[in-house]
Amino acid sequence: MKATVYKSTGSWYVVKAEDGRFYNARIKGVFKIDGITSTNPIAVGDMVGISPEPGTDNNAMIDEITERRNYINRQSPSHKHHHHIVAANLDQSLLFATLRDPKTSQGFIDRFLVTCEAYHVPAIIVFNKADLYKKKEEEKFEALSEMYSSIGYKVVLMSVAKGQGVEEVKALLKDRVTLMSGHSGVGKSSFLNSIFPELSLKTQDVSGWSGKGMHTTTFAEMFDLPFGGSVIDTPGVREFGLVDISRQELSHYFPEMARLITECQFNNCMHVNEPGCAVKEAVNAGTIAVDRYVSYMTIMDSINDKKY
Ligand code: GDP
Ligand code: ZN
Repeated sequence: MKATVYKSTGSWYVVKAEDGRFYNARIKGVFKIDGITSTNPIAVGDMVGISPEPGTDNNAMIDEITERRNYINRQSPSHKHHHHIVAANLDQSLLFATLRDPKTSQGFIDRFLVTCEAYHVPAIIVFNKADLYKKKEEEKFEALSEMYSSIGYKVVLMSVAKGQGVEEVKALLKDRVTLMSGHSGVGKSSFLNSIFPELSLKTQDVSGWSGKGMHTTTFAEMFDLPFGGSVIDTPGVREFGLVDISRQELSHYFPEMARLITECQFNNCMHVNEPGCAVKEAVNAGTIAVDRYVSYMTIMDSINDKKY
């Protein structure tokens, strides 16, 4: 029977089978996927094959994993060389940001966008807490909105508290699988609670759940939306590491730079000090935002790519 992984605690998985039922599932044997060393062979969003365990109500064995359409990776917090797959088979990724209480930095937003580009997951940026914005933040929002929209990203202004923009975000989520992320305090839970009117978020747990007592809140979890589609919440995942991105390829993940790369004088241009660099010309001409270029250089400095 085919099933989708809704929750993972490392050794146990909650999966929803095509019959609509939830099962507690374990892996049978050892899986190697895509040849990557991963601390979690199966992630939320994975499509798996399961066989219900005879004599149990809702236990099952996972005996097959369907090839992933895409996935988002991060470095394992405990082992720098291990990757941790945050979620798989995503249609899009939505970043919750705020311009005050707390303020999300542009550097954080740009790192998030680079990760999405690298994994071929379309990104949406939602600026929440609009009700708190004064003139300064309103102007900042207008500038960021224009900048990111011109690059090709969807940007929405929202206030969960006032119900502003919520319908627009719901329409973007409908019938799609969306990874949600953002710093804590930006209003993710408030948003989810507002679109799950009477359900508590925890009601999709299977009875007899074996992960009791574990800190399951630090694991990604998928929720079906009442109006179609599903969201994957990633509590505790503050930032996705830029796993596997080299300095040389970084500009490929800034779409406004990627479009110009063939116009640079050198085909291996990193857009730093090289002569005839079309990217730097565009920054000087104002067609690429200086702040985006600053993010590019900051991320570049943080990449420690010994392999190149
Ligand atoms: P999470 O950590 O991202 O899940 O954030 P929460 O949903 O827990 O929200 C953090 C705080 O921000 C709570 O006190 C919420 O009531 C508040 N909050 C959430 N959305 C809004 C909003 O649109 N406007 C205002 N003023 N406060 C909000
Ligand atoms: Zn260049």
